[in-house]
Amino acid sequence: MEIVVYSSTGCEYCKKIKGDLANWGLAFEERNVTENEAFFEDLHAKGIYSVPVTFLGETPIIGYRPNAMKKKLDELGLLQAKEPGPEAALALSEETEAESVFTPLSADVLEPLYDLVVIGGGPAGSSAAVYAARSRLKTLVIDKSPTAGALALTHKIANYPGVLGEVSGLELLTLMRRQASQFGATFVRSNIMSLHMTGEVKTVTLPEGTVRTKSVFVAVGSRGRATKVPGEERFEGRGVSYCATCDAAFFQDRTVAVVGDNAEAAEDAIQLARFAREVHVFVPGKEWSQDAEFHPLEGLSHVHVHKGTVLKEVTGVDRLRGIVVRTTDKEREVLLDGVFIYLSGNRPGTDFLGDVIAKDDAGFVLVDEYLRTNVAGVFAGGDARRTPVKQAVVAAADGAIAAMAADKYVNNRTRVVAQYS
Ligand SMILES: Cc1cc2nc3c(=O)[nH]c(=O)nc-3n(C[C@H](O)[C@H](O)[C@H](O)COP(=O)(O)OP(=O)(O)OC[C@H]3O[C@@H](n4cnc5c(N)ncnc54)[C@H](O)[C@@H]3O)c2cc1C
Repeated sequence: MEIVVYSSTGCEYCKKIKGDLANWGLAFEERNVTENEAFFEDLHAKGIYSVPVTFLGETPIIGYRPNAMKKKLDELGLLQAKEPGPEAALALSEETEAESVFTPLSADVLEPLYDLVVIGGGPAGSSAAVYAARSRLKTLVIDKSPTAGALALTHKIANYPGVLGEVSGLELLTLMRRQASQFGATFVRSNIMSLHMTGEVKTVTLPEGTVRTKSVFVAVGSRGRATKVPGEERFEGRGVSYCATCDAAFFQDRTVAVVGDNAEAAEDAIQLARFAREVHVFVPGKEWSQDAEFHPLEGLSHVHVHKGTVLKEVTGVDRLRGIVVRTTDKEREVLLDGVFIYLSGNRPGTDFLGDVIAKDDAGFVLVDEYLRTNVAGVFAGGDARRTPVKQAVVAAADGAIAAMAADKYVNNRTRVVAQYS
């Protein structure tokens, strides 16, 4: 059976798959979508917009989970006796950020069955990680943009108990994250693609693979947008994206837009500038937000920043054609191959939970006093629930409650207990 790996330049999981296939003694053809536009078009035609993708004959396997791949190859009678060698691990360890709290999302991180996966690494998520890891729960925190949450953006915080003087929100958060990390929690940066929350083992799918966990704490804050623009939903995954890490390679030598003013928008515009022929950045206000590190974009001749320009619509019939933007009183259509949207508001960012987790009309997750949602083993807190006051200390307290409630759930305890020593 023919094995074809669609990869992109710089994709760590592509390296990992290639290393593992080689170690398993399997011949394969590599099709790099960054280097060859025809391969990119192949995937586009098949309606697939991310790499790695491994075709075993006609069957595509999107993303990479070594054990699942091994099982599939075994079922197909393709696997030979060889075990993966150290080369595969080396490919991933090259870029290890040993100093950082956030670790690279390697196969080792995806492999275990977690006791608790925390979605969002703000004060709610980080405090939950401190308590959970302290209680010896195997804990993973996934944050899509660790400097973009409400606390991370707060320049001075003077009312957090026990912290004298004024520290920045990010400094305070880094302390919480370090503390959790020292107790054994793992922090990774990634985007949630889909979730399966029901059942004893829940799964969280990321561009890098799937994570399995016994419980989940939703701590995504409330910086989400109220509404999408016309056409946005229709072209999601077909030209509308929210993640350059996932999809930048699909826009090699294309024209793309980035819409937003925050750190995430700036970072992803920089990433897209490495692939795209032309990048238009539409900043809704007069200036970038203060957390946005946009300087690397200055001086890039193929990047055009348009300030005071608001996204109104995504256009197209069968394929995305462009976007309509408004500047003061004038609207115009900009023709594009793709648009990356990073707009924030003050709504809980809980749309990705779908209908399985009960929310109120404004999108706040409905929880009881132990922060349990309507689904067993799924908890929510911080600004993502309707709190009486949105404050860092309240979010951190929610994290503590959720972690102890998760401990009770995972370990079948009769009551919620704190670990004192
Ligand atoms: C300008 C400003 C000033 C403030 N000043 C103070 C103050 O002085 N004192 C005080 O106590 N409180 C202050 N607050 C309020 C406080 O910051 C919030 O109540 C608190 O940060 C909420 O914590 P949280 O963990 O729920 O959410 P956040 O701090 O918003 O963190 C949420 C995290 O989730 C991540 N995330 C979001 N969506 C996803 C997703 N789909 N997948 C993965 N990760 C995701 C985000 O990147 C972020 O890191 C301020 C808020 C603002 C906006």
